[in-house]
Order: sequence, then structure tokens, then C-alpha cells
Amino acid sequence: MVIKSAEFVKSSGKWQDCPEPNIPEYAFIGRSNVGKSSLINAMMNRKDLAKTSQTPGKTQLINHFFVNEEWYLTDLPGYGYARVSKVQRKDFEKLITNYILNRKNLVNLFVLIDVRHTPQKIDIEFIEWCGENGIPFSIIFTKSDKLKPNAVLKNVENYKNELLKTWEGLPEIYITSAEKKEGTEAILSFIAKTNEF
Ligand code: GDP
Repeated sequence: MVIKSAEFVKSSGKWQDCPEPNIPEYAFIGRSNVGKSSLINAMMNRKDLAKTSQTPGKTQLINHFFVNEEWYLTDLPGYGYARVSKVQRKDFEKLITNYILNRKNLVNLFVLIDVRHTPQKIDIEFIEWCGENGIPFSIIFTKSDKLKPNAVLKNVENYKNELLKTWEGLPEIYITSAEKKEGTEAILSFIAKTNEF
């Protein structure tokens, strides 16, 4: 898919404040620092559409971008902040879960995972929550340039095995590097194929 335009629409602190759900929408989520902003910028061919390296926990807002005047790209706040209180974390989880469960035009949720790590409890739990709630989702592994290709494949395999302990099938998996701009075209092709509404 050629990106002809990508405009910031708005930041929302409540799912009810998000733009009208009248066009297809694709949301991106992951732990803070997973490389979400970098990946969004790489996909959109922009340096600073999504802000990179914000202080974790500061912005817990849902950001909508309008792409090619056809679909929304949604930047959901990162989960799993260590530096916020339990109450803040609960409010924040509610923001994300309410959004995902209620957003009628959500075609797919992309769950980002840093490929360097062994399967993390918080990511596995989030993925299981998506499965249990029938949320259409895919997994994007990020920062693949930080490991040798064999190590990338081994870590991806570990993740798959962890998921197969609970699930019979696996979601679509993408391996990406924002730095090298790898894997982004596959994600955009999936969006191009599915964004008829
Ligand atoms: P976010 O908090 O998930 O939005 O993460 P950012 O996009 O701000 O990235 C966090 C850090 O990881 C920054 O220092 C980025 O430069 C770095 N980073 C993100 N993506 C990649 C990547 O594909 N390769 C490498 N080597 N570094 C990356």
C-alpha cells in the first residue's frame, strides 16, 4: 500500500471521545518502549507522526490518525508501566479494554512484542485476554535488527510454543524492524486487503 496521506486527527482520554467509528480502523498496542511509535512512523514514511520515546506513563491517550483518507490508524497507550500507582493502572486498563471491546469499526488489533525478550507474562496475559474476548488480533515482533536472524527465529518460536500451550491456532505474525524498515509492507498489505468496510 502506498501511503498518500497520514494526518493526526485527535487524542482522546475516553473511548467515547474517539472519532466516529465510521471507517475501518487498525489499532496498535504494546508495552511502553516496545517500538510502537517508531514502527508507526516507519509504516507511514514519516519521522515524527507518532512521537517516539515519550516519558513512559505520561500520555495515556488514544491517538487517531487518518490514513489515505480511508482508514484510521490508532495508537493505543502502552500497557505495563512500572512507574504508575495501582489506581492509575486500573483506570488505564479500563481505558484500553473499554476501547477494544466497544470500538465497532476495529478491524484488527496489532499487539507489539520486543523480539529480544523471552515470553513476558504481561504480554501473554494480554494476548489471552484478546483471544477470550474474540478480538481480531495479530502479533508484531519489533526491533528484529537488534538480534541475529537465527536468534530472532528462535525467540519467535518460543513465543509460538508459549501460546500453543493454551491455544490451538496461532494469530498472524509479523517480524519487523522500524530501524531497517523491514516487515512494514506486509502489515500494510494486510490492511489494504481488509479495509473494505
Ligand atoms: P514506544 O514507547 O513503544 O513508542 O517506543 P519507541 O518507538 O519510542 O522506541 C523505543 C526505543 O526503541 C527508542 O529508543 C527507539 O529508537 C528504539 N527502537 C524502536 N524501534 C526500533 C527498531 O526497529 N530497531 C532498533 N534498533 N531500535 C528501535
